[in-house]
Amino acid sequence: MRLSDCSLAELGRLIRSREVSAAELTEHYLERIERIDPKVRAYISVLEAEARRKAAEADRILAAGGGAGPLTGIPAALKDNICLEGAATTCASRMLENFYPPYSATAAEKLLRAGAVVLGKLNMDEFAMGSSTEHSAFFPTHNPWDTDRVPGGSSGGAAAAVAAGLAPYAIGSDTGGSIRQPASFCGVVGMKPTYGAVSRYGLVAFASSLDQIGPLTRTVADNALVLEAIAGYDPRDSTSVPDAPAGYAHGLENGVRGLKIGLPKEFFTSGLAPGVEKAVRDSVRRLEALGAETGECSLPHMDYALAAYYLIATAECSSNLARYDGVRYGLRAPARDMIGMFRASRSAGFGPEVKRRVMLGTYVLSSGYYDAYYLRAQKVRTLIREDYERVFAEYDVILSPTAPTAAYRLGEISDPLTMYMGDIYTIPVNLAGLPGISLPAGLTDGLPVGVQLIGRHFEEALLYRAAYALEQSGVFTARPALAEAE
Ligand code: GLN
Repeated sequence: MRLSDCSLAELGRLIRSREVSAAELTEHYLERIERIDPKVRAYISVLEAEARRKAAEADRILAAGGGAGPLTGIPAALKDNICLEGAATTCASRMLENFYPPYSATAAEKLLRAGAVVLGKLNMDEFAMGSSTEHSAFFPTHNPWDTDRVPGGSSGGAAAAVAAGLAPYAIGSDTGGSIRQPASFCGVVGMKPTYGAVSRYGLVAFASSLDQIGPLTRTVADNALVLEAIAGYDPRDSTSVPDAPAGYAHGLENGVRGLKIGLPKEFFTSGLAPGVEKAVRDSVRRLEALGAETGECSLPHMDYALAAYYLIATAECSSNLARYDGVRYGLRAPARDMIGMFRASRSAGFGPEVKRRVMLGTYVLSSGYYDAYYLRAQKVRTLIREDYERVFAEYDVILSPTAPTAAYRLGEISDPLTMYMGDIYTIPVNLAGLPGISLPAGLTDGLPVGVQLIGRHFEEALLYRAAYALEQSGVFTARPALAEAE
């Protein structure tokens, strides 16, 4: 078996038994990146020297015996909005092209302390605003299943890297679907944890009340392993939750017998591509065959979720991105006076999608419009959270498609509203702060389809259990041809 086909558990065993060294494993991935990434373009930067140094350090720890954990010596990659000390953290924006953070995000720090070897930083939509990675200021990423198609977004580089075997796992961020939707498009597993489960310290903020960091992996068990490593209370993030339950892989193999799974009727309507619906319904049947009980449920306020999200997220983004003014952070464009310098810097530093959102967000927060838009959106947010609470009084898990379609072609969607509509199944989960996982459910016309499982707050372990049962039923074993290239 090729190293790039191994699960994290298998890699960990090979490393700890010293059949493979961390240095060999790192070279394996660096070689694959050099050979395959020019077709995928998942990486914004590859940190060869630092990865080799870290691998050598892991090998010394392993040689000394003791002190090695499940991720020691195993390579990883980070979305480029997660700060890594001394490495460019660009958010795929001209604005931060030369930003070298003097500290690491807590999630990155935890991985480094666990002995992870960071291979590089991954492409994304600029400041995580988008669903296709076409909004990267540098270049688009290509879907490894069909390089004419998008990998999804905004964590498109992360999903593509894992799917193409260019990293054993990746860390992304999800504000309205940015982990789950690219996971769906690329045929990998992506978890958006409960809001507050993973520290946001060192994650460059987009919409702070929605942003959450999470893992993208090839298997469900790998995902639980990585979440275990990055989750936990952090005093540096005031929204991080103390005493959240850990043990994400606990009971992974306990199956779904008796589990009550709700299927929201609002999510199985027009707009859902037939091939996607077929794969998702097949997952439902498999779960039923394994003993789960399924039934139709209703989330009546879903029609308003997209509008509420695009008011709240843009409001928060306009506030968060005010700091990029050419003084405190980021690009500075020369001008004759100070206001001119602010204007020139922000004009040159931000791409069109970011500008659109900053303008929209500034508008909805402005006096006279605040009550009509922002405040009303917050009220809708409460109604959406209550919709889920009602369903969770009766069901343990909610199942839906992750995205209405499979991956589309690069350049195919040019109008922003159509792009926004692709987030219809993932956005409400962020508004309610719930955990959601996307895992592969099958193929349609040779492209992966994801199914999403949503749980109560902090019930990630239950989601992993249900996802694992579905995965083990053999629903999806394919890999993109590009990843097979020796
Ligand atoms: N696609 C959504 C947006 O454009 C979600 C992005 C995200 O989750 N970061 O806002």
